[in-house]
Amino acid sequence: MPRPITATLHLEAFENNLQVVRRFAPTAKVWSVVKANAYGHGLKNVWRNLAQTEGFALLDLAEAVLLRESGWQGPILLLEGFFQPEDLLLIDRYRLTTAVNSDWQLRAIAEARLQAPLEVYLKLNSGMNRLGFAPERLHNIWLQAQELRNIGSMTLMSHFATADSAEGVAQQMATIERAAAAVALPRCLANSAATLWHPSTHGSWVRPGIILYGVSPTGHWSDIAETGLQPVMTLSSEIIGIQRLKQGDRVGYGGSYTALGPQQIGVVACGYADGYPRHAPSGTPVWVGGVLTGTVGTVSMDMMMVDLTPCPQATIGTKVELWGRNLPVDDVATTAGTLGYELLTGLAARVTVNCLNQADYGVQQ
Ligand SMILES: *Cc1c(COP(=O)(O)O)cnc(C)c1O
Repeated sequence: MPRPITATLHLEAFENNLQVVRRFAPTAKVWSVVKANAYGHGLKNVWRNLAQTEGFALLDLAEAVLLRESGWQGPILLLEGFFQPEDLLLIDRYRLTTAVNSDWQLRAIAEARLQAPLEVYLKLNSGMNRLGFAPERLHNIWLQAQELRNIGSMTLMSHFATADSAEGVAQQMATIERAAAAVALPRCLANSAATLWHPSTHGSWVRPGIILYGVSPTGHWSDIAETGLQPVMTLSSEIIGIQRLKQGDRVGYGGSYTALGPQQIGVVACGYADGYPRHAPSGTPVWVGGVLTGTVGTVSMDMMMVDLTPCPQATIGTKVELWGRNLPVDDVATTAGTLGYELLTGLAARVTVNCLNQADYGVQQ
């Protein structure tokens, strides 16, 4: 028998979540962001359930080719552009839309031999200082790009650093507005947080990622609890051992947890080699057989221990949910000092992925 840990994908939630995006951004087209192997869900598993999208955005050329070869015929956007001039061969062959964020990329496009002009996203650095052209250069870059036979349509792209926090987008939007006044280009600016909370950013295309997977861009489920978004992934396992502790007994590596009195704990088949955060402290929420409880001790490579005080009926074989429909990944991430993004994309390759379709819904796990 394989280890009982499984990632279950509620694929229909993608259709729901895409509709939620459309409710928030009714006039924009949607690039569904599926980078990092669809945020750890498996690009191959998920893209068909998002096929109502206008386009898919990702950053790995190999993932773009896989998406094309699996049958997606619509637009594909390379969010970081290309990494060497030779990549243009595949970009041309597979008709990919590419971001352009550096002068060398413009030169490479100018010098390439292409079957047809490329669609290009000019990336503006509006304050995040990651990728993109400085605002004062945008007009000039746009003029240069217009001269190139190898460039067809262009869109203005930028990315927000604080759309998910109280600071918001005002400062970056002011920079974008100033730079954009000098160019006649449609806009594509909004990540998930801006899609939900900053309608002024929507423009022609939005680029939501994390909310399509039913996870909060802020790290707090409460921020999206009322939106109708549904988590796609449930990570579940089982109790594979029980220990009865006496007062003073310690648990796990380093003995970081000490029982205050008699206590029953369960051993769960899930560890950091499955993608569970090793830094999750004692008390990180876990759902055991229908009851919320917490971890005890340090997470090991393949196992972790949980407090069974609130669920005395739990026994070997009892279902455990590490995150998912009953326990938002955001709640685990917050306690462990990280974000749902990191937990989802960190799901280990050794975890079996089980795709549920509509007919399987409603089944109690
Ligand atoms: C990852 C990414 C997105 C999506 O971000 P979310 O916060 O997951 O919505 C959008 N645009 C760019 C450039 C990205 O790298």
